[in-house]
Amino acid sequence: MVEWQLARRGVADPRVLAAMRAVPREAFVPAWLADAAYDDRPLPIDAGQTISQPYIVALMCEALRLEGGETVLEIGTGSGYAAAVLARIAAQVHSIERLPALAASARQRLHELVVANVQVHEGDGTLGWPAAAPYEAIVVTAGGPRVPPALLEQLAIGGRLVIPVGPEPDLQDLLRVTRTERDRHAREVLCGVRFVPLVGAQGWDRG
Ligand code: SAH
Repeated sequence: MVEWQLARRGVADPRVLAAMRAVPREAFVPAWLADAAYDDRPLPIDAGQTISQPYIVALMCEALRLEGGETVLEIGTGSGYAAAVLARIAAQVHSIERLPALAASARQRLHELVVANVQVHEGDGTLGWPAAAPYEAIVVTAGGPRVPPALLEQLAIGGRLVIPVGPEPDLQDLLRVTRTERDRHAREVLCGVRFVPLVGAQGWDRG
């Protein structure tokens, strides 16, 4: 998977490739899909949500430009897979999930895999997690109609926010927003993506 789906498509960050190699993706997909765990596509998890395609997870991690040592915020824990990948690169990961059943099962999986530096919180991630702010990196794994202002506020100066944003709930541009100064942000479009909707006060009304 790492060689064919990631490195050959241009994912070059050795930290990201090593993390993707180390995290057992089959532990994050439903048992009946274990054989498909390393396929080049997103897979269904519980509650109508999805675990992202491996390439997209790697692309988003690389886009965060992590060097190790950072505190990272993830919105949309889902299965917990991306959180486990981030945990191998950053020092501390806070991950927020709005659906309690998914938060509970992700917490359980991360515990079984002895991933000690991820804290899974239940709640509306469009409001961020102010208690541990500021973050050097924030990644949103669901697509919203705009960049939530709360997340911009919780980004450190120099910090990167990677988020799918688009006018339709399931069709987005993947953006990287860098907080260059207190009140200045640089915005880049990385590619077109298709994520499940970001549902919350600063997201869509419903999924
Ligand atoms: N990163 C996940 C992919 C999750 S899919 C993985 O590796 O498996 C997106 C997730 O975002 C879903 O679980 C959905 O419930 C969650 N979500 C949507 N809106 C949210 C919000 N406002 N706050 C927190 N989680 C949200």
